[in-house]
Amino acid sequence: MTIPFPDIPCPTTHDANAPRRLLIGGALAALAVVLTCPRARAQQKMSKQEAEYQDSPKDIRMCATCSLFVLPKSCKVVEGDVSPSGWCKAYAMAD
Ligand code: SF4
Repeated sequence: MTIPFPDIPCPTTHDANAPRRLLIGGALAALAVVLTCPRARAQQKMSKQEAEYQDSPKDIRMCATCSLFVLPKSCKVVEGDVSPSGWCKAYAMAD
């Protein structure tokens, strides 16, 4: 007489595809966050109006001495072309 033994998977059996499934699932979750979360997208720049940009310096402060200025005529936080002699309220003194 034989005793029937149920076919239960052994908990120590290694599933070779588990790491791949985990990796693919994680990648898909990260992609979903990037595609749906506005903060995960590239930061948008301020408009010149929002930044109160002007084409002339304010006192001695101007884009040319601002740490956010990017040669030859752009800015990391304000959209569009800016003048090296311009200024806005986001001015940040270069070190
Ligand atoms: S943050 Fe303002 S002051 Fe500085 S570079 Fe940009 S536009 Fe010019």
